[in-house]
Amino acid sequence: MICEFCGGETRKKKVKKQHWLRNRLYIVENVEAEVCQECGERYFHATTLDAIDRHLLKEHVVKQQLNVEVVDMA
Ligand SMILES: [Zn+2]
Repeated sequence: MICEFCGGETRKKKVKKQHWLRNRLYIVENVEAEVCQECGERYFHATTLDAIDRHLLKEHVVKQQLNVEVVDMA
């Protein structure tokens, strides 16, 4: 597809995605995305996002637990 920000070409790639679900943050690896070759913008299909939600809502393997810092630039 064509990037809607810069008009560059996207390519299918597996990426690591930050994903919020029910107020919890998950890092999900190997998510299929269209990634812009020019600006790096990532696009996810709605079906991919639904699949992540469904996967997280059922019993799933947790590869690693991270301790995340929240900081404020204000
Ligand atoms: Zn772009």
